[in-house]
Amino acid sequence: FDDLTGLVEESCEAETAKHRGCSSKTVAEKAREEREFLPIHGYRDELLKLIAKNQVLVIVGETGSGKTTQIPQYLQEAGYTKRGKIGCTQPRRVAAMSVASRVAQEVGVKLGHEVGYSIRFEDCTSDKTVIKYMTDGMLLRELLTEPKLDSYSVIIIDEAHERTLSTDILFALVKDVAKVRPDLRLIISSATLEAKKFSEYFDSARIYLIPGRRYPVEKLYRRWPDADYLETVIRTVFQIHQTEPTGDVLVFLTGQEEIERAETNLKGRMMDLGTKSSEIIICPIYSNLPTELQAKVFEPAPKGSRKVVLATNIAETSLTIEGIRYVIDPGYCKINSYNPRTGMESLLVSPISKASAEQRAGRSGRTGPGKCFRLYDVKNLEPTTIPEIQRANLASVVLTLKSLGIHDVLNFDFMDPPPETALLKAFELLYALGALDGKGEITKVGERMVEFPVDPMLSKMIVGSEKYKCSKEIITIAAMLSVGNSVFYRPKNQQLLADNARMNFYVDTENVGDHIALLRVYNSWKETNYSTQWCYENFIQSKSMKRARDIRDQLLGLLNKIGIELTSNPNDFDAIKKAILAGFFPHSAKLQKNGSYRRVKEPQTVYVHPNSGLFGASPSKWLVYHELVLTTKEYMRHATEMKPEWLIEIAPHYYKLKDIEDSRPKKSQRSSERASTSKVDTNKKTRTSKKVDTN
Ligand code: ADP
Ligand code: MG
Repeated sequence: FDDLTGLVEESCEAETAKHRGCSSKTVAEKAREEREFLPIHGYRDELLKLIAKNQVLVIVGETGSGKTTQIPQYLQEAGYTKRGKIGCTQPRRVAAMSVASRVAQEVGVKLGHEVGYSIRFEDCTSDKTVIKYMTDGMLLRELLTEPKLDSYSVIIIDEAHERTLSTDILFALVKDVAKVRPDLRLIISSATLEAKKFSEYFDSARIYLIPGRRYPVEKLYRRWPDADYLETVIRTVFQIHQTEPTGDVLVFLTGQEEIERAETNLKGRMMDLGTKSSEIIICPIYSNLPTELQAKVFEPAPKGSRKVVLATNIAETSLTIEGIRYVIDPGYCKINSYNPRTGMESLLVSPISKASAEQRAGRSGRTGPGKCFRLYDVKNLEPTTIPEIQRANLASVVLTLKSLGIHDVLNFDFMDPPPETALLKAFELLYALGALDGKGEITKVGERMVEFPVDPMLSKMIVGSEKYKCSKEIITIAAMLSVGNSVFYRPKNQQLLADNARMNFYVDTENVGDHIALLRVYNSWKETNYSTQWCYENFIQSKSMKRARDIRDQLLGLLNKIGIELTSNPNDFDAIKKAILAGFFPHSAKLQKNGSYRRVKEPQTVYVHPNSGLFGASPSKWLVYHELVLTTKEYMRHATEMKPEWLIEIAPHYYKLKDIEDSRPKKSQRSSERASTSKVDTNKKTRTSKKVDTN
C-alpha cells in the first residue's frame, strides 16, 4: 500500500505528453537502433521457433539481455497479437511503467495505445493495447473476471526468480489455464538459474538460455569500520571517484529514507571536498520516486562526470542501467515478514541472499570489466531468499483463490507450499470477517469484498459501511489510508508549524482519531475545489491528495458495481467508526496503566505511532488501528478511539464480554484486589495531602 504514493502526476497523459514533447523522433529512432545491439537480438528467430513449438518455455538470461523489452516485440512482429494481447507481468510497479514506456518508444507509439501498462489503481491501456505490461497482482485480479485469459495469446511471467506472492500463485493458475487453452503460449522468464525448478514445475518445460555478455567482476571486500554503513558507502563512493577510471557507480540501499539520507550526506561531503556538482551526478531510484525523476537514471552522464545511482532492490534485476562499472553493496534489503501467530506484518531490513549478492555484483560487468565493493562476508549469507509465500499474510490470496472456485486451498499446487499455520490464520480471519462460511466456502459478503483490490479488512470495512449508511465517508477514508503515510508534509525547518496545521484536523476531542482526521482533510480539500494552494497552506501533500481522489473514484465505481448505495452520514462519527470496526475489529487495543496499549485478543503490547495525531494527546482508553508496524517498537499506525461495547455489537462471534470488561480477574479475587488498590490510593492521598500541609 505504502508504495502507491508519490505517483500522482504520472497519469498516462502526463507520461505521453512528456514523450511527445522531447523531439520524439530522435529518441525513438535511437531506441530502435539500440535494439539490434542487445544480446537477445541474435537469438530472435530461434526463440520464436521454440515458442511456436512449445506451449511453455522457460527463458533464462542475464539482466539487461533484452528479455523484458524485446520478447513481446518479437511476438508482436511474428503475428501473435492478431490472436490476442501479449501480457507481461512484473513484480514491481515501477518496472512495469518504466519498461512499458521504453517499449512504446522503441515501437514508436504513444504509451497507453498499442503498448501500455496496468498497475493497481492505474490503468494505462486502451482498446488498441496489444503489448501490456502489468504487475503480477493485476494479472491475478484479471483472472477473476477472465478465468481463461481469453483476450491473451501469450502470457509472460517475468522476473520469475523474484518469487513474489502473486507470481507464485500465478504459476499455478496459468499452468491450469494452459491445459484448457492449447493455443495459449506461456513464457516463464528469469534472471537466475533457478530455472530447473520452474521447468520441473511446468511438467519438464523446455529451458532456453540466452547467453549474456558478461565481463569479469572483481569482488572487493571491505570491512565495515564505521558504526553506520552509510558512512562506509559514502567513503567508498569518493574513493572510487578519486582513484578509479571512468564508469558509473551503483549503490544498493534499502529504501527511500536511506537513499535520501545518503543523497544529503553525499552532497554535504561534495561541498566539503570542493567536488563540483558537475563531476558527480546523484540519481536516486526507488518505487515512490515520481516518474519524471525516474527517467534521469537512464540518461547517460555528461562527459567528464560520473553518475552515482542510489537504488533499492529494483536495480538488482528489474531495471538495467547502462554504464555501471562499480557496484557498492552493503548487503541489505527490506523484506516483508508476517508472523501468523500475532498476525503482524513488518518490513525488516535483512541480509540479502547469495543469489542476490551475485546479481548485484553482476550489474557492474555489463559493459566492461567491473568492480563490486562488498561490505559483508558472503560466507554468512543464505543461498537464496525464502519465497514470499512462506513469509506473507495469505488472507488476500486465500480469498482470491476461493473466489476462483478453488476449494481445496490446503492442497493447491503451490511451487513451494506456505506454512499451514499461515493458511489457517488466513482462513480464521476470513471467517471472522464473514467472507468465508463454516465450511470454508466463500459467502456473499466475500464475493463483494473480492471486487475491491485492497486487503480483506479494508474491503470488509467498505462493504460493511452499507449497514451504517456512511459509504461515502468510508471510501474516502479507505482511499486516504491507501496513501496514508504521505498525506501530511513535515519539512525539517518547519516542523512546529506543520504539526500545528495538522492538529486542526484533530480538534474535536470526542471524536479524536487518525481515520476521522484523514476524512476531514479530504473533505476540507474538496470544499476548496481541490486547491493546491490550500494543500500548501495546510502542510498537506497535494500529490497524495490527487492520488487519493483517483483511488476514491475507482472505489466509487466498484461500490456502484456491487450495488452499494452511496450514503452519507457526515456528522455521525459513531456510525463511521462502527463501519471501520466492521473490517478492523481484530485490531483493537486497550490502554494500560503505563500508557502503552495491549491488544484485546493477543498478549501483545503496542504503542501509538509517533506520526499519529493521538501521540502525546490525552490517551483514549480503547482504540481501533489500521495496522501495526515494527520499527523500534510495535506501533499502531492510524488509530481512532472507539467504544468497547461496539466490539460485542459488531463481532459477537469474536469478542465476549470478558474481553472488554476491565481486565480484572474473577469475582473473589476482584474484591480483594479492589481492597488493595484502594489501600494504595489512600496511601497516596495521605502522602499528597501531607505534602500540601507542609507547604
Ligand atoms: P532484461 O529484461 O533481459 O533484463 P531489458 O529488456 O529490461 O533486459 O533491457 C534491455 C535494454 O533496454 C537495456 O539495455 C536497458 O538499459 C534498456 N532499457 C530498459 N528500460 C529502459 C528505460 N526505461 N529507459 C532506457 N533504457 C531502458
Ligand atoms: Mg527484465
